Amino acid sequence: MATSNRLQTQLYINAKWCESSDAGRFDVVDPATEQVLASVANATSADAAAAVDAAGGALAGWAALAPRNRGEILRKAFELLDMQKERFAELITRENGKPLADSRAEVGYAAEFFRWYSEEAVRNIGQVSRAPSSGARILVQHKPAGVAVLITPWNFPVAMGTRKIAPALAAGCTVIVKPASETPLTMLLLAEILQEAGVPAGVVNVLPSRRSAAIVGSMLKDPRVRVVSFTGSTETGRALLGEAAKFVVNPRMELGGNAPFLVFEDADLEAAVAGAMTAKMRNMGEACTAANRIYVHESIHDAFVTRFGAAMGALKVGNGLTAGVAVGPMVNRGALEKVESLVEEARGRGARAVTGGHRLPGPGYFYAPTVLDEVPDSAACLGEEIFGPVAPVQRFHTEAEAIQRANQSEYGLVAYVYTRDLSRGLRVSEQIDAGMVGLNRGLVSDPAAPFGGVKQSGLGREGAHEGLMEFLETQYISVGW
Ligand code: NAP
Repeated sequence: MATSNRLQTQLYINAKWCESSDAGRFDVVDPATEQVLASVANATSADAAAAVDAAGGALAGWAALAPRNRGEILRKAFELLDMQKERFAELITRENGKPLADSRAEVGYAAEFFRWYSEEAVRNIGQVSRAPSSGARILVQHKPAGVAVLITPWNFPVAMGTRKIAPALAAGCTVIVKPASETPLTMLLLAEILQEAGVPAGVVNVLPSRRSAAIVGSMLKDPRVRVVSFTGSTETGRALLGEAAKFVVNPRMELGGNAPFLVFEDADLEAAVAGAMTAKMRNMGEACTAANRIYVHESIHDAFVTRFGAAMGALKVGNGLTAGVAVGPMVNRGALEKVESLVEEARGRGARAVTGGHRLPGPGYFYAPTVLDEVPDSAACLGEEIFGPVAPVQRFHTEAEAIQRANQSEYGLVAYVYTRDLSRGLRVSEQIDAGMVGLNRGLVSDPAAPFGGVKQSGLGREGAHEGLMEFLETQYISVGW
């Protein structure tokens, strides 16, 4: 059965499309035009209970299915998503604003999680050992954790979903996905793909809702829910950790970032500028991995700022559907205003805009790609997640100072280091408090690598074998034989 071209705007529970129990709906807006794109069903706590019933009912059958069969369904999902890349990319651009090239890259990345976990589904490997001081054998196996609630942000509407759904399904869990209210349409389209791939009823359920706290809170109370996997802001993550603690639900948290980008005096300058463009401008800076603070050695600072400023200033801004556009709108008015106020605050403290530094005419929430130089330590944009196309640059004098500056953040998701000296690169990388480091690379995301942060950036990892383990519970059987 081929998927239709119509947008799905209803809830997806137990493989059925339905309205919310109170018939409520909310609007999804195109940030490039400020026009309403669609109105979407607004799930209630009663709908959440129905979704938990569906996921709970499907759990035993899905968990019992041979791992190879689960893997084949995931493989089919990979193929279908890959085949429909253009359709997904266009929808992502419409509801999120990112340029089509970024949307296509996201769909490719998202699909790879299905491929990776189709292969990983058959690698749930246990252990047998002999107890050191008795004749007993220690048998360790990993079982599906249970029903998982997956909560995703708006900045990667499909990839943040597949990064959770694929390992959960590979592990044998069933799921309820709560997509961000800014971008629910892509996740609803993904539900169609999963149905077509052969995912049985109840295994994946999708609940768009503007009543996040109420519906998630009601699901966590249900003893069948064993995992809550969240990607979003640190503030919301903290609130959810509190909820999860009340009911002792396993929390997996992918939270905010404030990535430092270090350029040493021996770096390849062209490569460092290109890396900074990727690390800063992927998704218009609306990425948890976005370079938030750029530190450049004093000896190459001026040359770096000149080239980086020119590259940023040359980017074409506009509706992401238009050919040649490299920078789309911010996701909503609040995001635009936040970026604007951070730039004004930095300027008020003495920062200088090398390029940009202002919003662009609407309709649409557009902000000019901006490089800020001479940014004082007190500027708020160095401490907060900017989440927009603004790059503050500071200079450093010594390696020790660069490391100290990189680490002076409550966040610890990712850092970038540019140097031609590999031993320096590894030495510095090891001393940075971050879950991930890009060494001479401006992009770290890879389905085969463990993605995640330390400090206030989160708990747990997504991708790689670690991502599968997040949805498995370890059971030990003491055996006399
Ligand atoms: P957010 O406001 O925290 O929202 C994320 C999700 O949580 C949305 O689905 C939201 O629903 C839901 N939510 C909000 N309040 C909730 C509550 N009390 N209980 C349960 N769910 C709740 O984050 P965002 O603005 O969408 O995303 C941007 C943030 O995500 C940034 O901080 C970014 O760094 C982070 N992020 C982290 C990673 C990573 O891997 N570490 C990746 C991408 C993004 P509504 O939309 O309905 O409010």
